[in-house]
Parts: sequence; structure tokens; C-alpha cells
Amino acid sequence: MSGEVRILLTEKEIPTHWYNIQADMPHLPRPPLHPATGQPVGPDDLKAIFPLGLIAQEVSGERWVEIPEEVREIYRLWRPSPLCRARRLEKALDTPARIYYKYEGVSPAGSHKLNTAVPQAYFNRQEGVMRLTTETGAGQWGVALSQACNFFGMSCTVYMVKVSYEQKPYRRSMMEIFGSTVYASPSDQTAAGRKILAADPGSPGSLGIAISEAVEEAAGREDTNYALGSVLNHVLLHQSVIGLEAREQMARAGHYPDVVIACCGGGSNFGGLAFPFAYDKLVRGAKVRLMAVEPSACPTLTRGEFAYDYGDVAGLTPLLSMYTLGSEFMPPGIHAGGLRYHGDSPLVSQLVHDGIVEARALDQLPTFEAAVLFARSEGTVPAPESAHAIRAAIDEALAAKEAGEARTILFNLSGHGFLDLPSYDAYLSGRLQDYPLPGEALAKSLAHLPQKK
Ligand SMILES: *Cc1c(COP(=O)(O)O)cnc(C)c1O
Repeated sequence: MSGEVRILLTEKEIPTHWYNIQADMPHLPRPPLHPATGQPVGPDDLKAIFPLGLIAQEVSGERWVEIPEEVREIYRLWRPSPLCRARRLEKALDTPARIYYKYEGVSPAGSHKLNTAVPQAYFNRQEGVMRLTTETGAGQWGVALSQACNFFGMSCTVYMVKVSYEQKPYRRSMMEIFGSTVYASPSDQTAAGRKILAADPGSPGSLGIAISEAVEEAAGREDTNYALGSVLNHVLLHQSVIGLEAREQMARAGHYPDVVIACCGGGSNFGGLAFPFAYDKLVRGAKVRLMAVEPSACPTLTRGEFAYDYGDVAGLTPLLSMYTLGSEFMPPGIHAGGLRYHGDSPLVSQLVHDGIVEARALDQLPTFEAAVLFARSEGTVPAPESAHAIRAAIDEALAAKEAGEARTILFNLSGHGFLDLPSYDAYLSGRLQDYPLPGEALAKSLAHLPQKK
């Protein structure tokens, strides 16, 4: 239909299976290693903090994994999410390109993170675990897991990076509405937190520190497991609902994307949108480009090292094979809080390493400029994280204009920015700067990679 703006699916069309890219990758990532022995971790090592259902998904080679009916039932609260054609943005750019975006901000959490929070809570409850711990940076993951635990009658403890806890009180309020207990990390609740506080009482915290705290508590308590909002294979598996729906919606719109774009922190919204298209590329020979976009202040895929590294600061997690800036990397206080992690998904990292996925790093100012143009054209205020995908999509559309090509661009609008308005204030009042990562800082944190110690 010409002039169509929103391409919608019905509830019956929510996918019945998740897509597992491990079935189709030319090279699988090297296996996670035990932090103490350096040997590949087995299911027994992970049992202390994860349920068997998720451990099985983590290592599964099956292409399609069934979505439990109870999970689909909760997905119906916001799925299928809309696919929109950004016609007003196209007009503002005066580009021949077609720009589509998948909008994940319609979830009750305001981002894509609920797509995995729900099944993670579900598979824990299936095995009788009624208590979860986690970490959160800017708070989106903490909110999503709090909502999911609430749906299943479970309790949830969240270690929230201190600087966000102090600067972004609204997401803490949301977690508390859903019944979670929230601590500013580093906290005095754990040995890892107390150690950091003793060395640096004013520590602003980091995701790596908060993960250490959440894992320590889960490992030390029989009744408690840990949940991670990104990076791991099972998280990207759950997020594939985004791309599966989008592929169907693009088919109905009558266009196949030339390029699929998403921002990349730990890789979950990127993998979620892009992997079903990667299936087309790897298995069916489709000529689609897949682009992961990160901030130049935390340039994991574009300037990090492809190596084994810890997921946290204390070295409690398995060593993962990934692009990393070093687990002791302290990211500058940029406003895309969800993109400040030192590492990345092993699946996304391997695909970048193998040349199947391309990566770009963007500065903060042009990213906010794109976010404001998008808001003024399409009406939705994007999350600062998602704005990286918007900037890259606009750059593609401008390149298409330059080349006189009717390119089709698809990007993920991973969340809305209604709780990120202080960041927009900073941008609009000229208080924001770019923070390209200095080479010396990068060299210093990479010198601490485990195999170099
Ligand atoms: C958490 C978050 C991200 C970054 O995480 P990924 O795992 O890379 O997707 C991006 N966008 C939004 C809105 C988020 O909440």
C-alpha cells in the first residue's frame, strides 16, 4: 500500500520460536573459560547462578527454539511491536532512501529489554528459583527485570551504578513500583563492593563493579540466581523476536533492507534485529549489510581487542571471547548509559571478526543532533542509546542522496527517551561535549587483559 506509515502484525503473529544464530555461523565463538582454572566452563559451573533451561539455550546448536506459551502470553502486552516508515524524516532529509524503524519503546519497560527479562524470569521460576539479582547501568535493564519478576511473583535485587542511582532517580522509582530492592553500587552489601569502597569511597561505580556484586550475592545464596540483560547467547536468542517480526513486516511493506542498523552496548538489540537478517545473508545469500553502532567514548568493536576477558571488575565471571576495552575500563560519563560496557556479545564479536557484521563509532554531539531531528520529524523522543542507530541511518540516507540511490534502510529504535530528558537538557543548553577515547587510556586498560597479566 503506498503511503503506509505503520506496518502492524496481529497478536497471533507473535513468533512461536526464537532464532538461534549459533546454528548458522561459519565460526562459533571460542568457549567461555573458568576464571580460576582457565578450562572451558561446563553446565555444572554455571548452575550456581543460572537455571538449566537458560544454560541449555546458551550452548544450543538448534536453529529454532520454542517460545513457551506463558512467555508469549506476556509478550502480548506489547508485541508485535510496530514497524514504521519514517516518511517525515525522509522528507526532512530530502533523500530518495526509504527509512524504516522497528519501535521497541512500546514495551512497558520502554525498551527492548523486556523481551529477554520475561523468559529469564520464567525459566528461573520453572526450576523453583524465586529470587534474582542483577546489575543495571542507566536503569533500563533493572526496570525490565523488575517488571518480569513481578509478573511471575518473584523477588528481585538490583545493584544500580551509583552515578545513575544519584542522577536518574526515576528509573529507581520504577523498579520500586514493581517491588524490587535497589542498592547504589558499589555498596556495602558485598565483599566486592566493600573492597572498592575501601579503596575509593567516592567511586561512581561501573557496570563491571555492579555485575561483581550481583554475581557474588547469587553465587553465595542457594535460593538466588543471577540475570544478565545483554551479552550472553541466550539473551540475544530471546531478542530475535524483534528481527523475526521486522522481517515479516518488511516483506509486507514490499521492501527488503539494504542495510540493517542498531546501536550496540552488549549487543542484544543489535543481535535481536540483525540476526534473522544474518540468517538470510548466511543461509540464503541475501546481500544485506549489518551495522552495529557504538559511541566513540566506548569503542569496543571498533578499537577494542578481540581476546578473552572477564565480564566484571572482580574477575568472578567466566572469561568470554569478545572485543573488549579491558574489564577495568572506566567509561566517561556519556549520556548513552546503556552503551558504556567494556565488552560485547561473543556472538556479535565473532561476526565482526569474521567480516559478516560491520561496526561504526559515533560521537555524542552529532548523535544528539540526529535524535532531535528524529523527534521533530517523527514525534518520538528516542533513548540516547537508540540515537546512535538514528545517526547512522541518517548518514546512510544522506549517502544514498549523494549517490542518487533509493536504498532501503532499517534501524532499531530500541527505546524511548522519556526518562532521559536531563541528557537532552544538557545537549540543548550546550553543556554536552564529545569524548573520543584517548589512545593512552585505551592502551592502559588493554594492558590488564587476563592473558597479559
Ligand atoms: C540497554 C539498552 C541498549 C544497549 O544494550 P544492547 O544490549 O546493546 O542492546 C540500547 N538501547 C536501549 C534503549 C537500552 O535500554
